[in-house]
Formats: sequence, structure tokens, C-alpha cells
Amino acid sequence: MSDCLFCIIIDKKIPAKYVRETSELIAIRDVNPQAPVHILIIPKKHIPTLNDITDEDCDIVGKVHVFAKDIAKEEEISIDGYRLVLNVNRGAGQSVFHIHWHLLGGREFNWPPG
Ligand code: AMP
Repeated sequence: MSDCLFCIIIDKKIPAKYVRETSELIAIRDVNPQAPVHILIIPKKHIPTLNDITDEDCDIVGKVHVFAKDIAKEEEISIDGYRLVLNVNRGAGQSVFHIHWHLLGGREFNWPPG
């Protein structure tokens, strides 16, 4: 989608700090990090929110988790612990309507989350 920020980043029309890329996914560093490690995992397919996924997307959603686990190991946060967060719609804090997961680590996290 031409007016979607993450589609523009996927198309490399604006710069981002790329961490990893496959034919289906990219991982970039969040521009406003909320933890020492804050990486966004973004499917290249434009899906606005989790509410919009279908059975067709099961493979991608599974791959996101393998991607997250591998990046967590690379970033050396896999042993101490990390969070994988998916905000759905504005009430949960979603501001970019192209589905993405936040991989957060490198500090302690509270529960319940704020
Ligand atoms: P959410 O609020 O869950 O939709 O997450 C959107 C995230 O995208 C926020 O954490 C922003 O800091 C991040 N973000 C916005 N613009 C950029 C950008 N140009 N490059 C990297 N991260 C961005």
C-alpha cells in the first residue's frame, strides 16, 4: 500500500536499521526504542491488524515466531528473557496499521503490562 509507512520501509524508499530480511519478513530496529533491544518484525504482506489474518497467513505467523527466537539469540536476550508484543488497534497502542510484532529485551519487564 503506497501510503503505509511499513510498506514504504519494506520497499526501501526510506531508510531503516535492518536487522534481518527474508522473502516474507523484515526485522528493523524501532526508531523510538522502549528497551535496549527493540526490534520490529514485519511481514512484507500488507495485513492491517491481527483481526485481518486468515488461514492463508498461518505460515507467515509461524515464521514470525521462528524469526523472533533466532533474533533474540543473536541479540543475546534469549536466556535472560524477552517479550514479543503484538498491539491490535488503537486501544492497545497500535499506531501503524501494518501488522508487526515488537521484540523487546535487555531489561526487566513488569507484569501485568501497562
Ligand atoms: P505500534 O504502536 O504497535 O503500531 O508500533 C509502531 C512502532 O513503529 C512504534 O514503536 C514506533 O516507534 C515505530 N516506528 C514508527 N516509525 C518508524 C520508523 N520509521 N522506523 C522504525 N520504527 C518506526
